[in-house]
Amino acid sequence: MYRTHNCGELGLKDIGIEVILSGWIQKIRNLGSLLFIDIRDYFGITQLIISKKLMKENTFLGKEFLIKIKGKVVKRLSKNYNIPTGEIEILVSHIDLLNPSLSTPFTIENETDGNEEIRMIYRYLDIRRNIMKKNLMIRHNLTMEIRNFLSDNGFLEIETPMLINYTPEGARSFVVPSRIHPNQFYALAQSPQLFKQLLMIGGIDKYFQIVKCFRDEDSRSDRQIEFTQIDCEMSFVEVYDVLKFFEYFIKHIFKKIRNIKLDSFPSISYSDAIKMYGTDTPDIRFDMSFLEFNNLVKTKNINFLKTQELVIGIQIKKCYNIHDNDKMNSFLKTTKNKNFFWIKYSYNKTLFFSKKNFLNKEIIKIFVQHFKASPGDLLFFSYGEKKETREKLGKIRLKIADLLNLNNSKIFKPLWIKDLPLLEWEDKSNKYKSVHHPFTSPKEEDIHFLKKNPKNVRSQSYDLIINGIEIGSGSIRIHNKNIQNLIFKHLGLSQKEIESKFGFFLKAFEYGVPPHGGIAFGLDRLVNLLEGNKNIKNFIAFPKNNYGKDMMTNAPYFLEKEKLKELHLR
Ligand code: ASP
Repeated sequence: MYRTHNCGELGLKDIGIEVILSGWIQKIRNLGSLLFIDIRDYFGITQLIISKKLMKENTFLGKEFLIKIKGKVVKRLSKNYNIPTGEIEILVSHIDLLNPSLSTPFTIENETDGNEEIRMIYRYLDIRRNIMKKNLMIRHNLTMEIRNFLSDNGFLEIETPMLINYTPEGARSFVVPSRIHPNQFYALAQSPQLFKQLLMIGGIDKYFQIVKCFRDEDSRSDRQIEFTQIDCEMSFVEVYDVLKFFEYFIKHIFKKIRNIKLDSFPSISYSDAIKMYGTDTPDIRFDMSFLEFNNLVKTKNINFLKTQELVIGIQIKKCYNIHDNDKMNSFLKTTKNKNFFWIKYSYNKTLFFSKKNFLNKEIIKIFVQHFKASPGDLLFFSYGEKKETREKLGKIRLKIADLLNLNNSKIFKPLWIKDLPLLEWEDKSNKYKSVHHPFTSPKEEDIHFLKKNPKNVRSQSYDLIINGIEIGSGSIRIHNKNIQNLIFKHLGLSQKEIESKFGFFLKAFEYGVPPHGGIAFGLDRLVNLLEGNKNIKNFIAFPKNNYGKDMMTNAPYFLEKEKLKELHLR
């Protein structure tokens, strides 16, 4: 028998009983006449006392050795109220060594000295750390909550294939060579998109799946090439129904997992998001939305500004003190030679400003009055070509929020972004590309642009952004064969290609496609966000590094010649 109890459950109620415990040695303290050992298992930590005699037989013991002990539960003199077993200890009568351990490459403590790389190489040791184990438990609880909630609300969990055909979904797919079909390839599913739509055509009313997706994308620290989606689809719904239900879903999750009650989710259109925040993923924990000044600079005849395509600015209220924010001051200096200018209205009512070669006190006053600025405010402006000016100020807005610590990770501000463009022109390939994916429905009122002016068509799509992070994204789908066909053509597919790639799908359109729509949330991102948005990898048991490499198993790796031959690759 390896254990009568686990290392996290013994307490005062157990005083006097004989127990057997198994666990890894967390800590050894040698007090000369006595030895104290903390042993750890999945459930917790228990302190052991080893007598001098027993100690002599076990001098070889070290950290992370796995032992089985027999002993009696006794009251502890110096109690540790931080752990559940802190009022007792085990007076050990017998020790069995189950397995020795090398000394570990990093400390098995919450605050470890191991860097990310070494922790990934020895992930099994990393998972022994309480904090990592807890992260996996949180993820488990979240997944269980999601499954139960969706199932209780009539969603059926259905698995869809991973090995599919290559379809244009936005990213690059991983390909898998077929041994049985020479020179033919599967692609790993980027998402279950087509299959979940086919389930709706199959009469399933609501579907979900917690599913691995694969995208051959470039490295980024918040992105994994294989990641998990909470993928959902519903029949007979419009945008309103999807947003309403999934707002309820997200609120439920936050309440259950973090006991946080979220306010109603506001929604804005994509074009407003760009105009107000310079990004389609705005962080609205802080306001600072853009104001446009083209009219003002024209009427006031401000020379170097009135000829600009766009002049925009933000106001940072009452949170600025020029005398004690060194970081802000050095940041402002870095914006000197670019298309920016700023005005600092100090608490002693002096106005400081940049770009003295263009600006003067009169011009500055125009802006201060326009903003109704008061002492303590910082005004920051960007000017130039429209798109670039907005994007740049969007980044500055985040930078300033960061310098002022406005991005509190305990506050959550969800936002729906709606009506993304259906298609965008890609110069590189000289083709249109779907902004969401090719199955997204255009907005009813924009369909008439579809033939002649596809760039102006908005789609029935929506993204859920929380604290500036895209947590979910979805759309109402096309359920009309002609429109679907036209979209494929806009994407540059010939009729022959449409037939060979999507023939099966278009055929299904002949059999009564219900109106349908859905969404997919990123599970890894969601759990990371719920827990403070530090590092997505901490919530994935075996993550890849930022270059898509598994540091522990060394995947991807070369294949032997014979294997390549078998796969018809040589
Ligand atoms: N399949 C889409 C994605 O992976 C989500 C959706 O439209 O439901 O982004």
